[in-house]
Amino acid sequence: MTMKNTNKPKSQKVIPINKTKGIAGSKKGNTSERRCVGCRQMVDKRELVRIVRNTDGDFSIDETKKAAGRGAYLCKNADCVAAAIKNRGLDRSFKGKVPSYIYDGIAGKI
Ligand SMILES: [Zn+2]
Repeated sequence: MTMKNTNKPKSQKVIPINKTKGIAGSKKGNTSERRCVGCRQMVDKRELVRIVRNTDGDFSIDETKKAAGRGAYLCKNADCVAAAIKNRGLDRSFKGKVPSYIYDGIAGKI
């Protein structure tokens, strides 16, 4: 007994969504600012160092600012590094202890 069942109806509907331009035109398109964990101010990414923790739990300083994983930002100045150590901003951001070699690494880049 052979059953021919090639007439499967395709019921998947793809509805194109038209993105309407300019709904929120009030905000400036500058999204390159991130919060520094030291001074807690919004700073342009170019002025910041990104610290990243990858999925293995390893911390590193992300030169490209594109590495996968959880990231936190810090100004490239000694005050903010000191503030981050003092207020544990990085530890809080990562919900865990950030190893000291990271702070040393940042300090080496200032
Ligand atoms: Zn800062």
